[in-house]
Order: sequence, then C-alpha cells, then structure tokens
Amino acid sequence: MREQRIQVNLSTERKPKPQTDQLGFGKIFTDHMFVMDYTDELGWHDPKIIPYQPLTLDPASMIFHYGQTVFEGMKAYLTSDNRILLFRPERNMQRLNRSNDRLCIPRIDEEFALEALKQLILVDKEWIPKAEGTSLYIRPFIVATEPFLGVHPSSSYKFVIILSPVGSYYKEGIQPVKILVENAFVRAVAGGTGEAKTAGNYAASLKAQETASLKKYSQVLWLDGIEKKYIEEVGSMNVFFKINGEIITPELNGSILQGVTRDSVIQLLRHWGLTVSERKISMQEVYDAYHAGQLEEAFGTGTAAVISPIGEFFWNDEQLLIHNGQTGEVAKRLYHTLTGIQNGTEPDPFNWVTEVGQEVPAK
Ligand SMILES: *Cc1c(COP(=O)(O)O)cnc(C)c1O
Repeated sequence: MREQRIQVNLSTERKPKPQTDQLGFGKIFTDHMFVMDYTDELGWHDPKIIPYQPLTLDPASMIFHYGQTVFEGMKAYLTSDNRILLFRPERNMQRLNRSNDRLCIPRIDEEFALEALKQLILVDKEWIPKAEGTSLYIRPFIVATEPFLGVHPSSSYKFVIILSPVGSYYKEGIQPVKILVENAFVRAVAGGTGEAKTAGNYAASLKAQETASLKKYSQVLWLDGIEKKYIEEVGSMNVFFKINGEIITPELNGSILQGVTRDSVIQLLRHWGLTVSERKISMQEVYDAYHAGQLEEAFGTGTAAVISPIGEFFWNDEQLLIHNGQTGEVAKRLYHTLTGIQNGTEPDPFNWVTEVGQEVPAK
C-alpha cells in the first residue's frame, strides 16, 4: 500500500459526554470516526478522521443484498494514571485480514489501520470513561459499496472505525449466566464462514438467541453443524470447561471464531501451570462429567464480558447446575488477571498491552 496521510477534519460541535450509569453497551458514539475507501483502480485510499455521521450509500450497494462485510471488536482502557491502553490490537487487525480473505475483501495494511485507530482514539480520548470496568469499545468494519445486483466480490469498499464508550459488563460483580444447549439451529459449519467475523453469522444466530431468551436463558451453547454432538461456542464467545482438573476448550476447527481472549486465557492458564487441552469435546462428555461430579467449572471468553462464568446448562430437558450456580475459582482468577492487565493494575508478563500515544510515529 502507498504511504498515506490521514486527513483530520474535526467536528465543530461536541456531543455531551454520558454519565457512567447511562453507558450500557454500544448505544453511544463519540464525536469522530475514521473512514477509508477502496476501489480496484486506487486500492485503499483517502484515509480520514471526520465528524461522526451517517454513511451515504447507493441502495444497490452490495452490502445490503449479499452481506459482503467484516468487523472487529476491541477495547481501549484508561489507567488510573491516565494512560490509554489497547489489548493485543495487532491480533484484531490480523483477524480482520483473515476475515477479509474469507469474504473476498481486499486486505488492509494492518500497521496503518492500527495507526489510524490510535489517532482516532487520541482525537476522541475525552470519551474514554474512567469508572472501574468501563472502557471505549472499538468497532472497525468494512462494507462492500459497489452498486450492482450481481453476485460477485464488490469492486469498491469502505473501511470505517467507530468508537463507543461502554459501561461495566458486570454492574453487580461478576455473575454466572444460564445457557440453553441448542439442538436444532447451528451457528456455522466447517467450510462455512464461522471462522470469520462477518455479519451473516450473527444474523443466522438470532433465531436461536430469541428462543433461548423467551425461556429465560441468556445465551445458547452451539453444537457442531454436522452431528450436533461437539461443542463449538457459547453465544458469541469461546467456551472453556474444567473437568476433573483438566481445562478443555474446543480446538479451532474452521467453524469456531479464533478469539483473542481465548488465546490469552490459554496462555495464562499454561503460565500458571494448569493443564489446558484444545480438543474436541462433546456435550455428552460434559453431561457424563456432570453426573460423575467432575464438571468443576464452565465459562465463556470474549472482549465484551472478558470472562463470563456459566452457572447452568439446560440440555434435553435436564438442568445441569455448575459449581452450585456460583463463579468458579479459575474464572475468577482469569477475570481478575485479564482485566488487571487491560487496566494496567496487574503485571503484563506477555507484553500484551500497547500504550496509545507513546511510540514514535512511523515516518
Ligand atoms: C468476537 C467473537 C468471539 C470472541 O473473540 P474475542 O477476540 O475474544 O473478542 C468469539 N466468538 C464469536 C462468534 C465472536 O464473534
């Protein structure tokens, strides 16, 4: 990609900043956004930071019809001494390009995208909330913009980054969730798009999620798309089980999203000397372990909640209560350590955090 300068056009109006208790998740957006365009002739070009505003797209834009789009999700954290930290952001940019490859979207320059993100965060740094557990959620995404109703990869795209101050996921302390094991609908199959962060996967998951919510379950546990036997993910999180001392997470098989939190959890657990297996695990194995009194913990991992302990599974009309419906020790320790690394209150043995506004900008 060519050397690019980011044009900055600051907003003349500033929106009022929300109070901590108004934050929630993904409802409030900052004053600015990053936009960059792609055409086959020019490649990625015209990067700019502009006032937050609607996108104007031709109604024939391919994104609206065939869903050619990818996204990422990450967070910026403010430390108690006012430093801005990102957690393994290069991983998100790498994954964005892996999703791009799967969706036939042209790759972005990962280093440049990260630089653009940092500049955008600095422009809107007053929006990073300060209260404990809060952060600035970052949503980079790419949409296909060619106005054409034929099915083929678009010849033009927009890459956009928007920022949203978000509240603490656990307002009353870390809380276990109740999970419905989904036997009918599937999220993804090997060979499909499950490994990519692309809109269609989430559209496909809504029906199961809605059914689970009606039954008062907060998420579904997804089983594999072929035999509906092996465990894949929980909601839009990766999933871990502790059975008789062994910590197990489904191996990456092509239909599971490769979570940055998943990878970090595996590294931390091994660093602590615990046994972690990435392997196939069936729901029957979990069920049998439960009845043998060996299902010690279960939890989901993802950027939004970081660690989400699971207090109950409902499978084939049977309720499996885990750790008495309470948060397990491993989940607690992981939550404390990971959020501590992210907020700069715990040591960072793997050099996972990057400080925004520290390094010398590239020439
Ligand atoms: C984003 C996502 C995850 C978690 O990934 P992180 O990088 O840990 O946030 C897991 N599963 C699905 C389906 C996802 O979309």
